[in-house]
Amino acid sequence: MKAIIIGGGIGGLSAAIALDRVGIETAVFEQADQLREIGAGLTVWINASRALGKMKAAEGLLRCGSPVTRFEVRSWRGKVLAVSPFAILERKFGAAVYVCVHRGEFLELLKGMTDTGKIHCGSRCIGFDEDSSGITARFANGAEESGDIVVGADGLHSVIRARLHSEPKARYAGYTCWRGFATSTGDYPRTWELNSGDRGNGFQHIPAAKGGYSGLEQKTRRKEWLTRRAAANPKCWNAIGTGFLRYRN
Ligand SMILES: Cc1cc2nc3c(=O)[nH]c(=O)nc-3n(C[C@H](O)[C@H](O)[C@H](O)COP(=O)(O)OP(=O)(O)OC[C@H]3O[C@@H](n4cnc5c(N)ncnc54)[C@H](O)[C@@H]3O)c2cc1C
Repeated sequence: MKAIIIGGGIGGLSAAIALDRVGIETAVFEQADQLREIGAGLTVWINASRALGKMKAAEGLLRCGSPVTRFEVRSWRGKVLAVSPFAILERKFGAAVYVCVHRGEFLELLKGMTDTGKIHCGSRCIGFDEDSSGITARFANGAEESGDIVVGADGLHSVIRARLHSEPKARYAGYTCWRGFATSTGDYPRTWELNSGDRGNGFQHIPAAKGGYSGLEQKTRRKEWLTRRAAANPKCWNAIGTGFLRYRN
């Protein structure tokens, strides 16, 4: 059995690792000339961390990420409105409930677990054909690849999904999200804070420490800040500043 995986992002590489582990041959096709991720954070919830555990990637996840032990919803003035103590859930389910990683570092982890000979960059899939003998994926560079199944891991504008389901195009729903990383040398709580703003605005910061690659003593600590609908909204930018200053001081 051979699976052709379209897309070399977090989804595509995870699929390749998981399928390899159950003896299914894989080939990953990525349109970009190299595998890369954006410089933002990704929070891995318990369902994903359990799946990563089955893929023998749980230790690596904790090496490059930071478990968050508490979630606080706050008013725009900083008053705590609700708390979720993740530590209790962690004890109950026996796996990290919420781990924040840098997307690039997480992709590197998955890449390190994938046979790189099976990853074909510079291969933009333009469609596939199917008959009784299997499927053949077609690529913009003229190449073709045959297999038994195709896995569409090609993101939001997936050509595989469009071919299977002829979905309507993505529709802008009115939410804009600005994301970034800030480095910090100080200590800070392992708390994910969601600061509510007015009219659907909000500002979150999530500790996303990267700790101790072997041989390195120094730890880089990062905070991720994330805003919604921040564009052209001075109140929201104020919230970003306030949230940042609270952590910095
Ligand atoms: C603002 C925001 C925050 C989010 N935060 C979280 C979070 O905290 N936790 C969480 O679990 N999820 C989060 N998500 C969702 C998560 O980011 C996505 O579900 C996840 O990144 C999807 O990964 P993927 O590999 O399937 O797709 P992508 O990351 O989109 O990767 C698709 C890959 O396929 C390649 N590709 C595309 N088209 C083709 C083609 N035709 N041929 C070949 N290759 C192709 C692309 O170049 C890319 O490398 C968030 C999403 C957004 C928008």
